[in-house]
Amino acid sequence: MKRYDLVIIGAGPAGLMAAKTASEYGLSVAVLERKKDICKITRACGMMIVSLSGTYLGERVILNAEQKRLCFPAYGFSIPYDGPYRNFYSWQLLSYNGEIVQLGDYKTNKSKGEAGRVSATYDKSTLLRCLLREAKANSTDVFSGKTVVDARQTNEGGRVITSDGDIFEGRYVIAADGRISRTAKALGLNKERKFYGTVISVGAYLADLDLPADDVFYSIFMAEKTPMRFYIIPKATDKRVYSTSTATMDPYSDYLGALNRFMTQSRYAHWFRNAKKVESRAVVGNMISPVMNPVKGNFVFVGDTIWFQESEMTGAVISAWKAVGAITVALKEGKEALNEYTSWWQKTYANKYDFTQMVRGSTMNAFLNTEDMDFLFKHIEEALPSCLDPYEVSNHIGGAFAKLLPIMQKERPEIIAKLTKVRTSPLSKLISANIRKGFPNN
Ligand SMILES: Cc1cc2nc3c(=O)[nH]c(=O)nc-3n(C[C@H](O)[C@H](O)[C@H](O)COP(=O)(O)OP(=O)(O)OC[C@H]3O[C@@H](n4cnc5c(N)ncnc54)[C@H](O)[C@@H]3O)c2cc1C
Repeated sequence: MKRYDLVIIGAGPAGLMAAKTASEYGLSVAVLERKKDICKITRACGMMIVSLSGTYLGERVILNAEQKRLCFPAYGFSIPYDGPYRNFYSWQLLSYNGEIVQLGDYKTNKSKGEAGRVSATYDKSTLLRCLLREAKANSTDVFSGKTVVDARQTNEGGRVITSDGDIFEGRYVIAADGRISRTAKALGLNKERKFYGTVISVGAYLADLDLPADDVFYSIFMAEKTPMRFYIIPKATDKRVYSTSTATMDPYSDYLGALNRFMTQSRYAHWFRNAKKVESRAVVGNMISPVMNPVKGNFVFVGDTIWFQESEMTGAVISAWKAVGAITVALKEGKEALNEYTSWWQKTYANKYDFTQMVRGSTMNAFLNTEDMDFLFKHIEEALPSCLDPYEVSNHIGGAFAKLLPIMQKERPEIIAKLTKVRTSPLSKLISANIRKGFPNN
């Protein structure tokens, strides 16, 4: 058995940030990660920084390319990042027939240069390598290829057991094992959470797309029975390559067929004429209401383990930094110090963001047909604010639709009825099919 001040389960952005910070604070730290190669990214991820414009969790991230650091000035920390980045100047939502809504006016933003970027993509593998390097430099013990299969509270702290029977004990344990967290389940945290469906994202890194602009993040509404969007995101590591994907909440739908139809038969097919597949990517995750209390005994939960959907790299490192601060004080002054982490979490995320609006928004194109979407998008002429905050976006779009009420009333009153349905139907009814078809992990 091995004993530490802090044992961390998972070496994603949250786990490695926790390791780096705790080892800097002088704690003895072990990180357990099931992947053999910690920095190898195998799942789909957009790798956009949320966010260099606008705030998320009360923070506006700064990318200091000269010093090779990502800085979090509102919280007061920075992390090393010596990898490439790629700016993009607008988030464009496109209807199936080509009408565009812009979050951030492309031309104006681009004319401002770096100051006008909506954000940038980064390389997650490099970020993990940078965090790992600093954690190891401060004597963190890193165990890769170790899957944690059990976690329990003891009189002295927390005990975790790996699949090969190794036992690690920590005065505190940080659970950073991601979105479908085995630790959250083992400690009963998911019992109080509500399940909203399973999201499957599939796609590929594609080279040589013929896009109207190569520095835009595109989301295109696809003409499918199940609501689906197609995403195109510039990749930081190679200017020729884009991360492309589609997501569905119906695991039984023909999503690969939909992907193929979109790339070969839609009005956007010419974008993919010369495309070359570099690598396929996929990921499965659940939408589940956020944990309200992220501390259970001596276990502290961070990153995706407690979020509704994804914490994003930003939320992962911020929550890890906050948790380690609280644990370090708790080790000296007693467990009540952890209340600070819980209240930060509740105030900054769990009680602040209305994740149900995001769920409602995701059902929109089940109600609106392609002509309805064209009509709405066509009439939103002004660019909406630059934004990548996944929760704020639905407010901007909802606000833009509200401004169109007079013209809808006059020309397409049936759209008002459809939007009212999306806005007012009981959520459980809107997504009952998704819940039925998903794979809950409570
Ligand atoms: C389709 C998609 C697109 C995304 N795009 C973006 C984006 O553009 N920008 C952005 O910032 N974020 C994006 N995200 C979200 C981002 O990937 C996550 O929010 C972030 O990685 C969360 O970090 P984490 O450390 O909490 O969890 P993870 O990154 O999931 O890390 C968890 C780690 O724990 C390990 N682990 C799991 N179980 C065990 C176990 N039992 N024992 C040991 N180890 C274990 C895993 O192998 C993994 O390394 C996207 C997510 C998806 C699904």
